[in-house]
Amino acid sequence: MGHGSDERVERSDEEWRQALSPDAYRVTRHAGTEAPFSGEFVEHRETGVYRCICCGNELFRSDTKFDAHCGWPSFFSALAGDRVVERRDTSHGMVRTEVVCARCDAHLGHVFDDGPEPTGLRYCINSVSLSFEPS
Ligand code: FE
Repeated sequence: MGHGSDERVERSDEEWRQALSPDAYRVTRHAGTEAPFSGEFVEHRETGVYRCICCGNELFRSDTKFDAHCGWPSFFSALAGDRVVERRDTSHGMVRTEVVCARCDAHLGHVFDDGPEPTGLRYCINSVSLSFEPS
């Protein structure tokens, strides 16, 4: 799953716990979910790039963000094909596709096939999994 010269980022659970806020740790390292409409990026409209809160990997561009009215920041595409990895998730009695950071395995959210053109995808991502860099 390599992407150019980028290297894998691996930390122990304890190292992640110390490096992250409690909410970011719970969501990214233990597949948590932030409460809907609670995250700082739900209504965020600035131009720039969203990075992985854990490792800084660039994940989503603001021009792929759309308002899905679902309570979480939503994107119709990841920034580049190999920045995120998709995994089958059968937890909580549902079959979903989990989205994780390709560099550090941070849980980001899930991807659904009810998004807008041009991809038809909706990457439903927890705000606390992201940091934002304006351009
Ligand atoms: Fe990451």
